[in-house]
Amino acid sequence: MAGEPQADCLFCKIVAGEVPATVVRQTETTVAFRDINPQAPTHVLVIPKAHYPNAAALAAAEPRLAADLLREAGEVAAQEKVDAYRTVLNTGSGAGQTVFHVHAHVLAGRGLEWPPG
Ligand code: 5GP
Ligand code: ZN
Repeated sequence: MAGEPQADCLFCKIVAGEVPATVVRQTETTVAFRDINPQAPTHVLVIPKAHYPNAAALAAAEPRLAADLLREAGEVAAQEKVDAYRTVLNTGSGAGQTVFHVHAHVLAGRGLEWPPG
């Protein structure tokens, strides 16, 4: 069923506490934890506890949960005391997605040039 935990999903295992992570914030519906391979001084991943493969699938199935994810990205930035940050939602392996449980990257603390390339 949509949103149910997937046995082979790394981020479902982090939600379940089966894989350790440095959790920085948690709500009823989301978890935010530090990326294991940070690309910036602040690099936090925000995920819904429910499993959806990407942002569009999440928004189509549970729009309020998609809003929770984006709101939490802002809360992470506030907690990290950064005034500018970039939120990245990769979809598809061609775009660099390697974990197929939707996650928002929150990147901050270094120059974030635009366009990103
Ligand atoms: P993607 O490439 O799918 O957009 O992002 C996946 C992110 O998950 C990568 O930035 C990668 O460093 C991170 N990641 C992969 N495995 C783990 C892990 O076991 N723990 C944590 N905290 N991050 C992970
Ligand atoms: Zn999952």
